[in-house]
Amino acid sequence: MSRRQGEGGRIDTAAGACADAAQAYDLSELSFCYGRPGAQDVRWVLQDVTLQVKPGEILGIVGPNGSGKTSLLKLLAKLAAPQMGDIALFDRSLTGLSQEETAQTVAFVPQENAQLFPFTVAETVLMGRFPHRQRSNWSLGFGWENQDDCRAAAQAMETMDIAHLAARLVTDLSGGERQRTMIARALAQMPRVLLLDEPTAFLDLQHQIGICSVLRRLRDERGLTVVIVSHDLNLASQYCDRIAMLKDGRVAAMGTPSEVMSVENVREVYGCTVLIDAHPESGLPRITLPGPSLPVHP
Ligand code: ADP
Repeated sequence: MSRRQGEGGRIDTAAGACADAAQAYDLSELSFCYGRPGAQDVRWVLQDVTLQVKPGEILGIVGPNGSGKTSLLKLLAKLAAPQMGDIALFDRSLTGLSQEETAQTVAFVPQENAQLFPFTVAETVLMGRFPHRQRSNWSLGFGWENQDDCRAAAQAMETMDIAHLAARLVTDLSGGERQRTMIARALAQMPRVLLLDEPTAFLDLQHQIGICSVLRRLRDERGLTVVIVSHDLNLASQYCDRIAMLKDGRVAAMGTPSEVMSVENVREVYGCTVLIDAHPESGLPRITLPGPSLPVHP
């Protein structure tokens, strides 16, 4: 299997003009389980994960159900802590950062969650400003926001093309509108890193392409670093700069889409045979499901 860890230092994306910058994330020998290691029924969900996320890149995390993708994203967002190994965020240990400090750099968009409260779109997006709030101005209700907060929220709504929905309740939106609202809330945080868990699940093709295009634009124009968990191998192949493919909590393959998306890697990680050819437009790997006459297993 091709296994290429991050090369460290030099930024080589469209956003990266500077050399030898800190990695957005540097993960070394990370292991994680829910519960106490060694306790009965507790098993490692992530094991010996070493990888880097470069500033200004879109990194895709793919892998079968239960391979640890969401858990890895939670560790990056500091919503959970590894029992072993280190995570550095722009050269600072995540352990030493408070949740609020982390949230000033990292925004997390969890999986589509139906349990939404009936706030308006504008209120929901404004909530992204919580990590930047002035403590002295903080109250449990609204009214704490200052001009910067309102400007950031308005810009985020503009970017995600939901300004016209500002007064609508999030509970009354379509799936695509709701997802754009959640991403706008994350952008209002003004993060350097955006973490997204299955942002295009349940969306139609047009909305999938729309969200991926915005993420690429934010990478190019603002140098935003994006880590995106996706089940969609084609989306990862076409839109991500690099891909980490997980199997049973370990990094099975890591590199550019061309390095990672091979028939052999997919067979070993997913246990099925797919067809892979070059996308006619981008030349990147295009993954096709086998026809019904082909055996699923090799
Ligand atoms: P993926 O995102 O690749 O589907 P997850 O990270 O969600 O994988 O889950 C990896 C493993 O961790 C699974 O076996 C899952 O059952 C387990 N797991 C996930 N969340 C929890 C939790 N809160 N408590 C205990 N086990 C969990």
